[in-house]
Amino acid sequence: MSPKPLLELSHEEPTLESIRRAPKVLLHDHLDGGLRPATIIELAKDCGYTELPSTDPAELGEWFTRTASSGSLEDYLTTFAHTCGVMQTAEALTRVAAECAEDLAADGVVYAEVRYAPELFCERGLDLDAVVQAVQRGFEQGAQRAARAGTRIRVGTLLCAMRQNARSMEIAELAVRYRDVGVVGFDIAGPEAGFPPTRNLDAFEYLRQSNAHFTIHAGEAFGLPSIWEAIQHCGAERLGHGVRIIDDIKVAEDGSVQLGRLASYVRDRRVPLEMCPSSNVQTGAAKSIESHPIGLLARLRFRVTVNTDNRLMSGCTVSSELAALVRDFGYGWADLRWFTVNAMKSAFLGFDERLALINDVIKPGYARILSEAGESA
Ligand SMILES: [Zn+2]
Repeated sequence: MSPKPLLELSHEEPTLESIRRAPKVLLHDHLDGGLRPATIIELAKDCGYTELPSTDPAELGEWFTRTASSGSLEDYLTTFAHTCGVMQTAEALTRVAAECAEDLAADGVVYAEVRYAPELFCERGLDLDAVVQAVQRGFEQGAQRAARAGTRIRVGTLLCAMRQNARSMEIAELAVRYRDVGVVGFDIAGPEAGFPPTRNLDAFEYLRQSNAHFTIHAGEAFGLPSIWEAIQHCGAERLGHGVRIIDDIKVAEDGSVQLGRLASYVRDRRVPLEMCPSSNVQTGAAKSIESHPIGLLARLRFRVTVNTDNRLMSGCTVSSELAALVRDFGYGWADLRWFTVNAMKSAFLGFDERLALINDVIKPGYARILSEAGESA
């Protein structure tokens, strides 16, 4: 196969600092997995939440990454009890969403799809509509504050239903109801084992008939059947993670590669893979960044995108994820541009808007970096 980097346009190796200045696109980021530790502490004080393991921001941040690194998806998910615990009022949701937009913009993200499960924020009296409205308000405020700070970001929202609950139809209807005011799609999240996406077929049917978009968390902790069901039974347009598609690819000793029928289908149809390397290492879906299937999948030209999943639990940003890939796979600027354009093409935004972001923001942004690096794109 081709030597690394995938495409060589610049010899100037991207650094974390320079990657932060490049335009980036994020498709898989959880609102309740990206809070600032200091905000969690303040919100806990405001609402009388007393379960936090620490009230020191640095210590609390470390606690989240340490606990999330235990190696099991189930442990990883327990950290969300604290973030969700302090996000039960409209004010808290608006603040968290606004800071999310600001933090992403400060990292150079120009378009983000941020997801959350509205049903998790109804413990203290909010209803689903109030949750969605509070979050939308926050994204708008955050984007405005970011613009004033000189960083432009557009945020689209994905509403998640939880696999273990039985509210997917209700959440799908909610997503369609708010699609003209910033909700761009739907997702199913939560533990894969024992909860196949086919349990929610009526919701997917409804979304397809409403011409709405959806992705499904599949092939993270679970294997090929989960990916196959998500695409062929449910009709998912993208795969949340999708790492286990690697199980349908054989690499022979001489380096030749053979794709099974499902892997071929995913690549042929350009099904976007929302890959989240650090999160996968923490939950045990991959052993290390270096050995993460993203290397082979990118080499084979799957529609690979690079994402954060949960910035708080992984202690990461889009830029730090890309920097880790540069470090371990030797990627150059053209590769980072490829990941970014892949993500923008795969967004649940209208075609004209995607094209405008690619042509007016992403390509000129990388051209500028390449020319600064003394190279021509
Ligand atoms: Zn996720």
